[in-house]
Amino acid sequence: RVRPLTCSEARRGDRQVVHSLGDGTVHVSAARHEATFGFSAVFDAGASQEAVFEGSGVRQLVELALDGFSCTVFAFGQTGSGKTYTLMGPLTQGEMQPVAPGLLGLMQRSFACLLEQSRSRGPALVLSASYLEIYNEQVRDLLSPGPPCALPLRWSKTQGFYVENQLCVDFESVEAITELLLRGSQRRRTSAHTLNRHSSRSHALLTIHTCSGAVSTHPAFGGRGAHPSKQGTLCFVDLAGSERVKETGSSGELCVEANNINRSLLALGHCISLLAKPRGKRTHIPYRDSKLTRLLARSLGGSGITLMVACISPSSRCLSETLSTLHYASRARRVTSRP
Ligand code: ADP
Ligand code: MG
Repeated sequence: RVRPLTCSEARRGDRQVVHSLGDGTVHVSAARHEATFGFSAVFDAGASQEAVFEGSGVRQLVELALDGFSCTVFAFGQTGSGKTYTLMGPLTQGEMQPVAPGLLGLMQRSFACLLEQSRSRGPALVLSASYLEIYNEQVRDLLSPGPPCALPLRWSKTQGFYVENQLCVDFESVEAITELLLRGSQRRRTSAHTLNRHSSRSHALLTIHTCSGAVSTHPAFGGRGAHPSKQGTLCFVDLAGSERVKETGSSGELCVEANNINRSLLALGHCISLLAKPRGKRTHIPYRDSKLTRLLARSLGGSGITLMVACISPSSRCLSETLSTLHYASRARRVTSRP
């Protein structure tokens, strides 16, 4: 998704170097760079939030999650490229004024779709949500009250990687899940704010668990249904910005932050590159290299269905980050999975 030039970019005279040709391709043209990339869908600066929702297949992911699949929606790209805008819409500064309905992001639209769908599936369906962030290689719960504390990330044969003691909150309405999203996002922002003005120094993962026909709750709590149930997930991932890693290497905490973001995004890129190889030629996938790749192992690897939204700025000043995002996305596109 290419965002529009911001006012300040336009004011300082940045050139627009990214163009969408309307045929699923993105064309980058600058002095020494000419490149065209193809994707399953391309949204240019004029695309509405609704067009992105309808054109990116998220509606199908919601249905698949209800059918028991693990589905993931990633947004990635450099800071300021529109990841949060795409997922949640413009964040209102005065928390009280709600976002105009037309500007709501993929997440709120998915929530509406999910609850609409769930009503038609009857009362045996239980929905719950967890919201985590990975900050400095620590997993924190954004929903549990009190100051954020690090939760252990474990592995078991039956569940794969999972976070111990994460809070999972049941919800039954769009309002309730939207409220959980807002509550968690505010905690994420304030926690980051004490160290840095940037909100995107952490990776945030909101996961919706769908469980139909079950007697007890989510396996994270050790519950076991008395008869077979279908359990799916729909996970939204707002990745930390992919740049500034070189720029911020100045001092103390910022340096640690930057290195951690760098390391986890590199680990993610590495896993994606290996996964993109033909199945027969694949070697071991190093999910254990970072918390992020461990948490996303299921989404990335064989059994999940994943949508990756690459967010880019059209500005000439962002050229190198834009190219790197597009290369990253092209590799991701070659990954095949067996849901
Ligand atoms: P990120 O989360 O990638 O750091 P943001 O989503 O916060 O970036 O976007 C940066 C700025 O650009 C915000 O002010 C946001 O409102 C604006 N913006 C991003 N994408 C769009 C878009 N498609 N249309 C209009 N404004 C956008
Ligand atoms: Mg953001």
